[in-house]
Amino acid sequence: MATYKCNACGATFTNPQRDGLLYFHVCRPLSPDELAIAAAAGTVRVDAATEQLLARAAAARGNDPAHPTDADLARAALAELDIKRPGHVDQNSVPRARPYERDEIVPRRSDGAGVVQVGA
Ligand SMILES: [Zn+2]
Repeated sequence: MATYKCNACGATFTNPQRDGLLYFHVCRPLSPDELAIAAAAGTVRVDAATEQLLARAAAARGNDPAHPTDADLARAALAELDIKRPGHVDQNSVPRARPYERDEIVPRRSDGAGVVQVGA
């Protein structure tokens, strides 16, 4: 059981896990705050509609879930966009119609920025 850190999202995980199961890391999508920072820095490009959502989300947030502000609604819409971070990692296998053979090299969906081992 070794510990790894994702170079894209910073997540740490063990593989195999304590119960012996293999873990296949997938980076979480950018949160609204992460997306705002990445868009401002130019590391992620967004379309005009997303830019408008980011501008609306920058306004004051409400504190009453029953009466969301326009900024709250914009943040909720941004959270649904599923925008991948730079270097997105997805260690799941590439799906195909026929199963992989036992000793076959299985391609990953995205090595992205990769992961590094940080512990035994
Ligand atoms: Zn990751």
